[in-house]
Amino acid sequence: MWWTWGARLAFDTLTLDRQELVLKRAEPIAPYTTFGIGGPADVLVEVYTERALQQVVREAISTRTRWLLIGGGSNLLVGDTGFRGLVIVNRIEHLSVNGARIVAGAGADLGEVVEAARENSLSGIEFAIDIPGTVGGAIRGNAGAFGRSVGDISTRVRLLEGTELVDRTPAELGFAYRHSNLKLNDHIVVEAEFQLQPGDRSEMDRIMGQHAAQRARRKEKGLHTAGCFFKNPILADGQKVAAGQLLEAAGAKEIREGGAGVHAYHANYIVNHGGASATEVLRVAREMKRRVEESAGITLEEEVMVVMDPTRDGAV
Ligand SMILES: Cc1cc2nc3c(=O)[nH]c(=O)nc-3n(C[C@H](O)[C@H](O)[C@H](O)COP(=O)(O)OP(=O)(O)OC[C@H]3O[C@@H](n4cnc5c(N)ncnc54)[C@H](O)[C@@H]3O)c2cc1C
Repeated sequence: MWWTWGARLAFDTLTLDRQELVLKRAEPIAPYTTFGIGGPADVLVEVYTERALQQVVREAISTRTRWLLIGGGSNLLVGDTGFRGLVIVNRIEHLSVNGARIVAGAGADLGEVVEAARENSLSGIEFAIDIPGTVGGAIRGNAGAFGRSVGDISTRVRLLEGTELVDRTPAELGFAYRHSNLKLNDHIVVEAEFQLQPGDRSEMDRIMGQHAAQRARRKEKGLHTAGCFFKNPILADGQKVAAGQLLEAAGAKEIREGGAGVHAYHANYIVNHGGASATEVLRVAREMKRRVEESAGITLEEEVMVVMDPTRDGAV
């Protein structure tokens, strides 16, 4: 994000046609997020090519316009008054398989990478089945499940750093639990390469089936949620504790505020049951956090990226 205020939001100099870039003004952000929450963006552009992304970012930098990048919007809570500035929706979706490597545009669904791996009997990414969102969002947050994460299998990540395209190694990205250095800067993932291994298709199907069945118990399909709201805390002795279990034990499942409430099947999910505001979601989150602090003495840390403006969205 480019944090300068007072944006000049003409963007009339953008020269690309609709196959590369679609620009909308005063566009509600809610439909671009899985929470289904979020007021209008001053300007929203959907970019379909690397060239379009570069041109939009160059324009944003030269007009000192702040931006918010959205992939699948599955780890994002945007305020009810929306975003003053530019929202860039990444739709760079190319995908190719070269031997045991898969190269995907950052706007491709992670699920499509998983399916391409399955079709080509390439093993190593089975853990990612049913994780929503794009490749870019997954790289930034080092998305994962079942003890593995995308940082374990990525070999090269192409970034837009300012207006320069640069290839980075996983070591340079500093992957850790639900973390990469991309959380510390405004660099944009453009493409990622994943290294997999030739695998046995029926064994892969079996493992993916097991993972999918385990996830299905959470009854998460079609929910307006951003998945786990809090990270699993890591204790002083290095032990990782499931935030969902702490929340369950703290009685979080009964918490409800207007249209927002804790999911009946997973105590770390907040659900928009219909018409919830971002403020209601944050009130639920605050109460969840309070209960775990009180019952376990542990302060949970948010996993979901919250984009709100306290002066406009009001106090929580
Ligand atoms: C039902 C459900 C289940 C989930 N289960 C899991 C799970 O098992 N494991 C897990 O790790 N997560 C899970 N999540 C969370 C979410 O799916 C992941 O965090 C996902 O990787 C986010 O990707 P996205 O494209 O939707 O990112 P967004 O929500 O669009 O963006 C999230 C953040 O990443 C930034 N970003 C997006 N694209 C880029 C890019 N190209 N370059 C740089 N920054 C970018 C955004 O600016 C924002 O700050 C779940 C979510 C839901 C709704």
